[in-house]
Amino acid sequence: MSDRPQRWITVANRLPFSISSSEKKITTSSGGLVSALNGVKTKGQRIWLGCAPENLSKAQWTEIQSQVQNKNSWKFHPLFPASSVYDLYYNGCCNDVLWPLLHYQSELVTFNKSSWEAYREVNQLVANEISSIAKSDDLIWIHDFHLFLVPQLLRKLRPELRIGFFLHVPFPSSEVFRQLPTREEILDSLLSANLVGFHDYSYLRHFCSSILRLLGLETEFLSVRRGAHTTKLGVFPVSIDTHQFQLRSKEEKINLLAKSMRKPTFVFLGVDRLDYMKGLDLKLKAFRILLQKFPQYRERVTLMQIAVPTRKGVPVYNRLARETARLTGEINGEFATPNWTPVQYIHSSVNNQQLIALYKSADALLVSSKRDGMNLVALEYIASQDREHPGVVLLSEFTGAISTLPYALAINPWDLEDTANKMHLAMEMPKQEKLFRLEAMQGFLQNYTATHWAETFITELERPATEATRENAKAIDEQELTQLGEKIRLAQPKRIAIFLDYDGTLVPIQVTPDLAVIDQDTKNKIKMLSQLPWLDLIIVSGRDSRFLNTQFNDLPIWLAAEHGAKSYNPYTKKWKRRVHRNRAIWYPTALKIISDYASRVPHSHVEKKHFAIAWHYRQSPQEYGEFQARKLAEELESGLANFPVNILRGKKVIEVRSLEADKGVFALSHLEDVLPDSFPLVFGDDRTDEDLFRAIGQRGLSFKIGSGPTAANYVLESQADLLPFLTKLCRLLNIQMKKSIASKTPMSFNRTEVHSSHKKPGE
Ligand code: UDP
Repeated sequence: MSDRPQRWITVANRLPFSISSSEKKITTSSGGLVSALNGVKTKGQRIWLGCAPENLSKAQWTEIQSQVQNKNSWKFHPLFPASSVYDLYYNGCCNDVLWPLLHYQSELVTFNKSSWEAYREVNQLVANEISSIAKSDDLIWIHDFHLFLVPQLLRKLRPELRIGFFLHVPFPSSEVFRQLPTREEILDSLLSANLVGFHDYSYLRHFCSSILRLLGLETEFLSVRRGAHTTKLGVFPVSIDTHQFQLRSKEEKINLLAKSMRKPTFVFLGVDRLDYMKGLDLKLKAFRILLQKFPQYRERVTLMQIAVPTRKGVPVYNRLARETARLTGEINGEFATPNWTPVQYIHSSVNNQQLIALYKSADALLVSSKRDGMNLVALEYIASQDREHPGVVLLSEFTGAISTLPYALAINPWDLEDTANKMHLAMEMPKQEKLFRLEAMQGFLQNYTATHWAETFITELERPATEATRENAKAIDEQELTQLGEKIRLAQPKRIAIFLDYDGTLVPIQVTPDLAVIDQDTKNKIKMLSQLPWLDLIIVSGRDSRFLNTQFNDLPIWLAAEHGAKSYNPYTKKWKRRVHRNRAIWYPTALKIISDYASRVPHSHVEKKHFAIAWHYRQSPQEYGEFQARKLAEELESGLANFPVNILRGKKVIEVRSLEADKGVFALSHLEDVLPDSFPLVFGDDRTDEDLFRAIGQRGLSFKIGSGPTAANYVLESQADLLPFLTKLCRLLNIQMKKSIASKTPMSFNRTEVHSSHKKPGE
């Protein structure tokens, strides 16, 4: 990875150090985020901006500032919000609203306006502070749900900054997220960032459905476009400092400690903050079922649960602590013997040395989270294991980590019986299988470290959106235009053929297809281009021939309707059918399936063409329309699997069309039969145009309108750029082409005549 010259500014709720109240001793946090970011290579300065530790005043900070900065490669930039505001922001909003909602506990949400105002205020304070210190080429990386509003607030102050946002907790289903009264404000803000990262694809998908449903914005190939701004989305599961855990777990001191901790029983270890989303109740209940269902394990198994206290004094958490202790007592009361305590419950934190020794000594780790953004404990446990005593990981399906640890035993913690069965499986698992599973996961963690995570995110943040979403296609500026002219000149073409898609390319996409008619200005420009003696214009559209006739029949241009199923010769003024297979074998079935959907989905309609049937749902309720579109595409794929058809997903349209109706196939045969000396330039915006781009390949040049990955060579930002671009390009080419011109009408006409002699009777 390259060393980067820029500075980067990490922004999190808190600065990563604590300070002892008595002698003001500073301890830098050794948490995952700090070590992840420390590992990222940079020549630039690292700045960390966040709220100061609660017991540190502004005046004290001035005193100890140099001491802190000297100890660190980071430059800390503390904020000092008024404590009443901070309390409302942190406890009132972050912990009482956002945390439960993001973890699907909506019944625990207590939303009120004043805490939201405080949330806004602190986020504004953070944005102001970043803006006051950031240089234009700094990278800004904002962390977590405490700072949801910072991207937008900052963007307003500093439009030029490159802003990344990473969410460390789950993004819930849109069904849950939309319960939040301020849902749009959060989504709007996140879309002001350049990159938004999640731990898991499911979180990203939920985010996409929320923006579709609440803002009406579609995601295209992991990016969302709004006006001129593109927000990239990505999945970056966080990891740990693997090597540090491996090293420490081999230390003699830790080995001895682990040995002393080892029990004669099979130990299931749990290490969780005492939070309701960690599912300690489910874990204890499943353990009780294990003891009931498999009495042979009594006195042979222990559940060792470390429950790290959090949010002491908050009623919900006090209740949880009481409940957990009660359940533990109940199980111990029911099953304990003089020689054995089934649940060893430790309601406190442990130090790092003890933690790694516990990881090493336990036979299995049991994670039963109801929801958990990632769950680092599972990764730490795996990294600390050795070959002599390989442990098993039982991991809740509701953690982000489950996607990166396929060799863990997945449990649905709500299914107590199944969890008990999996515990039984873990206890009986042969060493060889344990080793196999463990080594596969260790192999993954070897390379996929916290530093790798941070590197990947930052590298993606550094990459401009055009490069990421359009792969290798180039955006066109003046310099590129000149080079383009040069490229075409070098190909020494006798003529040029411009293939243009209609909807979304020549005319803007409209709410209904009927509204997408060509205006007089566009028509005049097309007419002007069509009169250039060295140029042939071909409109290649999914529209039917009748529609294209109404738009273009008075112009000297070629037309291809229904993706090239029919073509029109402007010199003979005749349409010709190009698809020869019998459509009767698939058309009625497809029509039946599509009509069913049209009757179910409000404001959707069927467009019957000769060789294609399209279902349009642009005006249907967004989310429902998308859902039905996916189902329809699946149903058509399976229902018409044996027929010569293609099923296409376009922009708010699903289309079944004859296999031969393909813009690429049409363009190639048109070039071969009608315009053999022409150099093709092809333009389109949709999925069906990708066929055209691929078919043309290196033979000509292709241009995609709008965002998204493409096989095209170039990208034009929007539909409105097309005609100005074509006008400029043709002006540039006019001089050189006039020299090499081959005569227009006669050649085109003659070729067509040759081609028409192959006509089938009745065409
Ligand atoms: N941990 C700790 N002290 C303890 C127990 C755990 O510092 O007594 C650490 C553990 O090493 C892990 C983190 O707390 O890095 C827990 O992270 P996880 O993602 O599993 O859960 P979270 O608490 O962030 O929801």
